[in-house]
Amino acid sequence: MFAELIINSNVKTLNKTFDYIVPESMQNDIRVGSRVFVPFGNGKKLEDGFVINLKDESEFANKEIAKVEIKDSISEENIELARLMSRKYFCNISDCIRLMLPPGTASKVASNRIKEKTGTFVYLGKSIDELEMLIDTKQIKSEKHIKVIRFLSTNEGIYKSNLESICEVSNAVLQTMVKHNYIKFKEEQMERNPFMHKAYTRDEAKKLTKEQKVCFDSIASDIDKGEFSENLIYGITGSGKTEIYLQLIDKVLKSGKDSIVLVPEISLTPQMVDRFLARFGDTIAVLHSRLSNGERFDEWKKIRNGDKKIVIGARSAIFAPVNNLGIIIIDEEHDISYKSDTTPRYSAKDLAGFICKNNNCPLVLGSATPDIITMYKAKSGKINLYTLTKRANEAKLPSVEIIDLRQELAMGNRSMLSFKLQDEIEKNLKDKKQTILYLNRRGYSTFVMCRDCGYVAKCKNCNISLTYHMTENKLKCHYCGYEEKLVNICPECSSKKIKYFGTGTQKLEKEINKLYPEASTIRMDIDTVSKKNSHEDILNTFKNDGIDILIGTQMVVKGHHFPSVTLVGVISADSSLNLDDYRAVERTFQTLVQVAGRSGREEAGRVVIQTYNPDHYAIIDSQKQDYDLFYNQEIELRKQLNYPPFCDIILVSFSGENLKNIQKVSDLVYRRINAIENNNMRLYKPVPSPIDKIKNKYRWRIIAKCKVTTKTLDIINFAINDERIQKCKDVRITVDINPNTMN
Ligand code: ADP
Ligand code: ZN
Ligand code: ZN
Repeated sequence: MFAELIINSNVKTLNKTFDYIVPESMQNDIRVGSRVFVPFGNGKKLEDGFVINLKDESEFANKEIAKVEIKDSISEENIELARLMSRKYFCNISDCIRLMLPPGTASKVASNRIKEKTGTFVYLGKSIDELEMLIDTKQIKSEKHIKVIRFLSTNEGIYKSNLESICEVSNAVLQTMVKHNYIKFKEEQMERNPFMHKAYTRDEAKKLTKEQKVCFDSIASDIDKGEFSENLIYGITGSGKTEIYLQLIDKVLKSGKDSIVLVPEISLTPQMVDRFLARFGDTIAVLHSRLSNGERFDEWKKIRNGDKKIVIGARSAIFAPVNNLGIIIIDEEHDISYKSDTTPRYSAKDLAGFICKNNNCPLVLGSATPDIITMYKAKSGKINLYTLTKRANEAKLPSVEIIDLRQELAMGNRSMLSFKLQDEIEKNLKDKKQTILYLNRRGYSTFVMCRDCGYVAKCKNCNISLTYHMTENKLKCHYCGYEEKLVNICPECSSKKIKYFGTGTQKLEKEINKLYPEASTIRMDIDTVSKKNSHEDILNTFKNDGIDILIGTQMVVKGHHFPSVTLVGVISADSSLNLDDYRAVERTFQTLVQVAGRSGREEAGRVVIQTYNPDHYAIIDSQKQDYDLFYNQEIELRKQLNYPPFCDIILVSFSGENLKNIQKVSDLVYRRINAIENNNMRLYKPVPSPIDKIKNKYRWRIIAKCKVTTKTLDIINFAINDERIQKCKDVRITVDINPNTMN
């Protein structure tokens, strides 16, 4: 028998198969998806790889597989998925397989691998009847032995040290009992259960409203029939989407199948997980970045063993090793975190469609502000659309007011806070209600400039201005982390007129503290969130300690529930509006609607949005909280400008330290694409990227617009795979279709 292998490597030239001989001794263990170790090239050390095909004949095989690691195998279906991803996302098959391996096992070095934590567990050595007879006939006399036996009769499989403390017996006593075969020890894997100390109260299914029921019944019938379907549940926050998810999962669970629920990483909060725990108990596995590698490994194993049948996690949970998939649910489906911006640049939403089709089960997408592309598909009948129009708990929508910052300036208000927002904050302080202020910029000021000569402090490694951080009195680069001390004298002209421009969360907090010295504040952005002080800790402090004002970036926007927040202020709605990106407007709208949703979840809330563009439709529509209105305007514009969903945008990026080589390679790729007749693309010449240097690497790009088909993928793959290009090893090429950012 022979095996076709993929070597575990991200070297482009190794993205092909190699034939190996399967030794007799391994023939029973090896299958498609097995992880193997093989001699490779001239290297002495073994390389690892994955079997992607088995066959009876081979012209090339001349070496034998040295070892097979049975525990790390992946499914044949995943091998198929990895192949598809490799082609679609322009990366090596092994780059994709690594996402599917048990956490912590991608490393080749044995000592870096996760060790299974085991412990000693105690069982009865004979049947309880036999033992009772021995006690009756006084063959077992020791009080201690009897106590242990009686205890074990209802508590078999207890952890040994727990037994010792509960029955107050020593190790020596237990050893004697083992010798007599009254009890036996077993070495078993210990649980690293993230919910070990968690008590949860059971929650029952709610009686669905009419709107919920229409949606539920239709998707439930796909579950019954074992049919693929793609569904969008469009409903404002609180309209009962999660309740539908829960009942669909319950149905899937009862049919013996597994469910995967994807949520944005940042909204994977204990509050959110608790709702699932309350309904389903510990058949839930949670996969998120705060778990240790060991914990993630354990969850992974329990999913694979079938002990956990509902997986909740961020993007990569799409690769969870479920056995028999019955549904995938993607909540907040518009969230950009479902698209990876590192290799492999996959879209979990696209893959979910593929996986559900393979498993003949429904895919459910949910959002209050669906992705324009998803809604377009729904409106054109490609996917089913269910609309929930009422809030299930009858809560009111907040009232939203827009403040024109140009007028504030005209009135002589140079503060970051409009007079209106100041009034509202004061009102809230007086009423002892909480306030959230949202600002999409961290640090103190956004750039530092010399008033005399116009010098701007820039990063040494990136073509980006540095942000001033006041708490550390440093200038920082938000792209590479470079830091330097603040300059007081201009390095160009020696002037002392160094000024800070722009506003960040630090400056806002300082201004608030000055305006309202009696108010307590807490700030949440990447600078205050750390391992020790998690995003959850900050929110809990805000909630439980009754802090008056929470100041934060994007992190404050998503899925939290604060009953006593009645005011939300958006300091500047414009920062994302003017970006050179076709999705900037959509993002602005989504964010504003979500931020507004943080206010008044139980009592009527107020929202104040400050902007220099009060007439922009994204701002006006978010004031009305009217997604449909926004959708109609946005889709019209996309159509006129030929942006997604009417075409796709392919971004081919080139980066490296040698500018000449980048120009050479990008030009070559451009000419290779251009030379193909009928490529159906609108191709733009190579140009420097908007941020043309990051971490000392120059960045160029080619943009192509077209409807991506398999032919397009082939053309791009052909264009970037050329010997002359591969010779320029220092130039890194990445291809991203409909990327998250166009920077
Ligand atoms: P969404 O996911 O759309 O934000 P949820 O499912 O979280 O909405 O529902 C909001 C609140 O309403 C929750 O407290 C939920 O328990 C409750 N709820 C949802 N559906 C019903 C229903 N049919 N009957 C009663 N309460 C419901
Ligand atoms: Zn100067
Ligand atoms: Zn930098």
